[in-house]
Amino acid sequence: MRTDFDALVVGAGYAGAVCARKLAENGKRVLILERRNHIGGNAYDCKDGAGVLIHQYGPHIFHTNDKRVFDYLSRFTRWRDYQHRVIANLPRDNPEAVPAGKSTDGRCFFPVPFNLDSLKNAFGMKEGERLGEKLLAAYPGREQVTILELRQNRDPEIAAIAEYVYEHVFVHYTMKQWGQTPEEIDPATTARVPVRLSRDDRYFLDEYQGMPLHGYTPMFAAMLDHPNITGELNTDAIPLLDLSGDVLKVDGRAFAGPVVFTGQADELFGKKFGPLPYRTLDFQFETLKKDWFQARGTVNYTVDQPYTRITEFKHLTGQDLPGVTTIVKEYSRAYTGAPGETPYYAIISPENNALYAKYQAEAEKFQNLHLLGRLAEYKYYNMDVIAARALDLAEQLLGQP
Ligand code: FAD
Ligand code: UDP
Repeated sequence: MRTDFDALVVGAGYAGAVCARKLAENGKRVLILERRNHIGGNAYDCKDGAGVLIHQYGPHIFHTNDKRVFDYLSRFTRWRDYQHRVIANLPRDNPEAVPAGKSTDGRCFFPVPFNLDSLKNAFGMKEGERLGEKLLAAYPGREQVTILELRQNRDPEIAAIAEYVYEHVFVHYTMKQWGQTPEEIDPATTARVPVRLSRDDRYFLDEYQGMPLHGYTPMFAAMLDHPNITGELNTDAIPLLDLSGDVLKVDGRAFAGPVVFTGQADELFGKKFGPLPYRTLDFQFETLKKDWFQARGTVNYTVDQPYTRITEFKHLTGQDLPGVTTIVKEYSRAYTGAPGETPYYAIISPENNALYAKYQAEAEKFQNLHLLGRLAEYKYYNMDVIAARALDLAEQLLGQP
């Protein structure tokens, strides 16, 4: 019987798997239900037809400053040292700008986050150097500034840099990704990719960065491999959950143990207040008969092209596979809820947050129902934050301080 468990976890991504493991290790018998035919949630990876290890739901790079999370996950995987580096590839509109490689195709490139070297690449060596010094003097002691902050600077030369960065890094990419300008979206979103006041060209500055040595999926498999965990794939939990009365029912019977739900909050309640808006992505994978396609793990097309970025997986995974490589192009669009679509990004705004709060209030009517994770909490969370929240919730459920 499905109620012969102490805790029910819905979803086998970071939120579900970390929480399930923690509960299981503390003596709870956990049933974990996953709608997809695999574990790992959006961090799932697998080999494609050519044997290249790919991330089916887009490139995932692990990075955190949270030692507790890093240590916890390190119990289930070893790590490959990897520092993600991204370059922008865009049409060259300044004759001083550094062309892409040796090509003469009218394009230029520079590191993203935009940094002091990007300035030189964009404006030419001498002018870029001078502007860099000016920028450093304007923000003494700062490691980085956000583009929205930079645009408020009244100094005409700094304002010109801000406009350059806005136009060449942010506005078109953000329009592609969100269908809105940087001013229209949540400021925390563009703040994820600041303007760096240094030459550091790493995408993330966190203390712990890397890729699970053999991939994310084996890490999840190790995490879920516990005698107290029973898992069912291809199982949508929603038809099994009855939230119509005062008491939560699982499979038709009252269930008093914790239910940790990591799917969409609106789906859980039949979208009764209306659908929560999301962005979805279409991934176009291409396998090429060559060693390498591009110089970096990810290249952002910040000005043109219908896709936002191209990622070449072998850079991330370190897989040694000569003569073949797989890339993925990401196309963003509005999520419609059509079958097969995945809601990848919550669209954070006051209206949408208010709609989410209605679903949250519904969930709070059941003291044993817990919404956890990027979908269930309607937040733009990275993997490490979800893992931390899952550990916190499990500790709370176990009555641990
Ligand atoms: P998910 O991974 O979405 O897992 C939820 C699971 O629940 C899914 O497997 C789903 O099938 C299942 N589920 C849902 N509803 C039901 C149901 N009714 N019944 C049963 N099962 C259900 N983070 C980083 O830290 N670094 C990165 O580089 C990074 N890159 C990203 C790139 C992209 C393109 C995207 C979209 C996200 C990226 N993230 C990255 C964020 C990362 O994917 C999330 O933080 C993480 O996957 C969230 O885990 P989760 O468990 O909350 O959700
Ligand atoms: N962004 C941008 N240009 C870039 C990179 C990022 O405009 O070259 C903006 C864009 O709005 C994007 C946000 O910064 O959605 C966050 O970027 P990040 O790379 O963190 O997005 P994710 O990897 O989560 O899709």
